[in-house]
Amino acid sequence: LASKLPEIGTTIFTVMSKLALEHKSINLGQGFPDFNPDQKLLTLVTDAMNAGHNQYPYMPGVEPLRQVIADKVSALYGKQYDKDSEITVTSGATEAIMAAVTAVVHTGDEVIVIEPCYDSYVPAIRLAGGIPVRVSMRPPETLDETFEIDWNKVSDAITPRTRMIILNFPHNPTGAVLKQDDLDALEQIVTNTNILLLSDEVYEHIIFAPQGHISLASRDSLAERSFVISSFGKTTHTTGWKVGYCCAPANLTAELRKVHQFMVFTVPSPFQYALAQYTGNPETYRKLPEFYRAKRDRLQQGLLNTKFRPLDCPGTFFLLADYSEISDMNESDFSIWLTKEHGVTVIPVAAFYGDPLSDSSNHKIVRFCFAKQDATLDRAVDQLMSL
Ligand code: PMP
Ligand code: GLN
Repeated sequence: LASKLPEIGTTIFTVMSKLALEHKSINLGQGFPDFNPDQKLLTLVTDAMNAGHNQYPYMPGVEPLRQVIADKVSALYGKQYDKDSEITVTSGATEAIMAAVTAVVHTGDEVIVIEPCYDSYVPAIRLAGGIPVRVSMRPPETLDETFEIDWNKVSDAITPRTRMIILNFPHNPTGAVLKQDDLDALEQIVTNTNILLLSDEVYEHIIFAPQGHISLASRDSLAERSFVISSFGKTTHTTGWKVGYCCAPANLTAELRKVHQFMVFTVPSPFQYALAQYTGNPETYRKLPEFYRAKRDRLQQGLLNTKFRPLDCPGTFFLLADYSEISDMNESDFSIWLTKEHGVTVIPVAAFYGDPLSDSSNHKIVRFCFAKQDATLDRAVDQLMSL
């Protein structure tokens, strides 16, 4: 069989979670909470089921949820999307990304991704017949820095065939966040071009930087060419429900929906109604930075008592840490060894690069997920103290 994705294997998150299970290792790898969402939200799901919301909901998403999304984005980022023609509820951010790329990328189009990058972008581009163009972030030189996007490199990567740039801030896996300067640079690059933007903002509410999250929706010149994508999985501790959304101008939304309707058609109705009621109260996401800051600090402080050296983490629920005092192994071997021999599972950052084994992808840094109960984080740190 001639594979359409010859270089793609099973996603690193599934590989590492399986290994963690096999070795009964504490799983700080794949990004998901090990605690339940708010009981109120759970009750709202059964309420929705009992109220009869058990059949196909409206294809682009139920009206109350699209209204809540429109109101939230308008309140936070000052951009009023039309709930009927510009907002689509999707099966997680993953489907929004796949549907957007499938809808607008043609054979031979180039799509710029910023490495290290989330692992669903490149397969989406390839399936659409596009050509991924990887631009690396600048790795940190000291531990109080983080990876940074180099806009000169992005600019140099633009060609007449560039169709789209995919951005993801707050950034998985590095935790990097956007500043207004970044938006200025991006604006300069795309002005007077036909380049579209896909902005994966699933960690928009998990941000510790003083400036808060800066959405591409907040600037009209960018929003007019952007698919702005987010996910309730991160915001409500429900990664298994797979409810996300995409905000985009009507012409882009129309194309996205053509794909969405045949990819999944729609998204389970009880979850949509429950999330509409729950997220209608802004307190539900306003509390997140405080909640996750405490967990980040707990893990960061804990790791300072080990030979790991944690980096700065201005956003997301992932913390990077350097292990060069512990081992010379490459990141993949180190992560497997840590699971098998020390009972803690992490993700090699190199897995977010096109060539995970090359020296330029290996900075002796691994990713810890701190969306875990305090007791889980403490147990993991205890195990790492013996290294
Ligand atoms: N984008 C990024 C950057 C992610 O980390 C994730 C993962 N959880 C997703 C997209 C996928 O989100 P969802 O689970 O809503 O499909
Ligand atoms: N986004 C999650 C992570 O980075 C994983 C999601 C998935 O496994 N599809 O860990």
